[in-house]
Amino acid sequence: MKLTKKIMTLFLVALLCTFTFASTAFAAEPSITVSKGTAQIGGEVTVDVAISENPGFAALDATIAYNEDVLQLKSIDTTGKLLGQGGMVSPNVTSGKISYMNTANVTGNGVLFSVTFTVLDNAALGDTEVAVNITNCANASAATVSSLVGETKGSVTVVCANHAWDEGTVTKEPTATATGEKTYNCTNEGCDATKTDSIPALGNAGTGNDGTAGGDQTANNGDQTANNDGQTTDNNDQTNNGDQTSNQTGSNVSPKTDDAGNMMALIVMIVVIAGVGGIVVFRKKASAM
Ligand SMILES: [Zn+2]
Repeated sequence: MKLTKKIMTLFLVALLCTFTFASTAFAAEPSITVSKGTAQIGGEVTVDVAISENPGFAALDATIAYNEDVLQLKSIDTTGKLLGQGGMVSPNVTSGKISYMNTANVTGNGVLFSVTFTVLDNAALGDTEVAVNITNCANASAATVSSLVGETKGSVTVVCANHAWDEGTVTKEPTATATGEKTYNCTNEGCDATKTDSIPALGNAGTGNDGTAGGDQTANNGDQTANNDGQTTDNNDQTNNGDQTSNQTGSNVSPKTDDAGNMMALIVMIVVIAGVGGIVVFRKKASAM
């Protein structure tokens, strides 16, 4: 009995440990994210700084860090964002800092504020880092919310204002029914921009032509067989012609008719010559008699 109790206790402890571990493992951590953006040289780009699994905060200080050779900070926007709903917010475009104070905790999830940059005219093409560092964060009880303190990185991809597209490569072959795809890459150094064009489906034209041609060829073969009688030499030529002119049914018929006509004329001539020859021979024989 004592052994059974011990086993049961051990089993329950193990079960409890499993549940505790599982719930800890699956609980999402509070986090700040900085979105990615793309902009042309001389253009503007906005990145969102957002919060998820918000544990609740009432005061927050953030510093925005970026490459000043590539980007220029234009505005920090809180309108319609979490930091724009009550409390006091003071964004400073010159220093790239934003401070927020409230008496009650902000508990929602979503975009805290947005940052808009202008891409400098002489900026290098490619990715440039945009970091947001939460230097201080506290809740309404003045306790530090350490899970939100720290740096988070996003990025802005700078592309050229006028892409120089290459000749493109077929990335998806079109079929009779489905459209294909051609992908073009910008050849300007440091620009990763791509664009795709669709290639129209091939349709039924190809298969239909083949089928019809096959039918014609069969008909021509029939004609050629009919012409076989008495024309051994000429028939060889016609067999070759049959392959070459399989798509030209109309023109194929008339030359054959001419050939047959010529042959008839030749036969008539042979008969006539033979006849004349026969008469000459007969006359010679007759005169010799
Ligand atoms: Zn480009």
